Amino acid sequence: GKRAFIAGVADDNGYGWAIAKSLAAAGAQILVGTWVPALNIFETCLRRGKFDESHLLPDGSLMNITKVYPLDAVYDTPEDVPKDVKSNRRYAGSSKWTIKEVAESVKEDFGSIDILVHSLANGPEVTKPLLETSRYGYLAAVSSSSYSFVSLLKHFVPLMNPGGASISLTYLASERMIPGYGGGMSSVKAALESDTKVLAFEAGRRHRIRVNTISAGPLRSRAAKAIGF
Ligand code: NAD
Repeated sequence: GKRAFIAGVADDNGYGWAIAKSLAAAGAQILVGTWVPALNIFETCLRRGKFDESHLLPDGSLMNITKVYPLDAVYDTPEDVPKDVKSNRRYAGSSKWTIKEVAESVKEDFGSIDILVHSLANGPEVTKPLLETSRYGYLAAVSSSSYSFVSLLKHFVPLMNPGGASISLTYLASERMIPGYGGGMSSVKAALESDTKVLAFEAGRRHRIRVNTISAGPLRSRAAKAIGF
């Protein structure tokens, strides 16, 4: 069977969870990467069976998440993590959550993967029109929502089996004006789409890894509710 790593699962409402279920139903082994600040709640809910109903696969069996890795896709290596984040209560409780370290841990635990899914985005100023977005908000959105994919692919490609596939989720606001999708999130998705073409060329030629992005329809996930969609 195939092994999949899905970055960006912290509850059972978002695309990440749904993709994990589809892959599990198709017989894949499921590993997930969960944003560090959301890890505690997610693991508690899993343990207490809050998501039990959402684990149900079409054949009546239950999805098994083999391992949950803490992840913050804004940081590539431990050297990139600022002191205040390192000592933050929510971060200090976990370790090895930078992208490089997560890739190393997955390699150590399982050797290789076949499928990499990027299902994460964050725009601190998403409720602000682009015209009112700060440089900080814009760059933070690009860092967590676009560069995170470049970095994930960069660090996971060495442990991906040739013929493997990677995918991210984009949104129509990259190409059409969608009011309310602010804070640079429209720019973030345009970058993600452009990067997909370049990364598909590079990872395809060099490693025989496919790179795609799916423009998903609106879904009332946690992220979407935060912007009133
Ligand atoms: P979601 O809230 O379920 O998923 C976003 C995830 O990103 C969350 O689990 C969050 O914890 C995680 N995350 C945020 N910052 C992170 C970081 N720095 N490191 C690691 N994880 C981080 O919401 P969703 O809507 O399912 O979003 C998944 C993807 O789908 C996103 O790329 C989103 O832009 C895209 N998308 C969503 C919609 C929609 O309507 N919901 C439409 C098109 C595309």
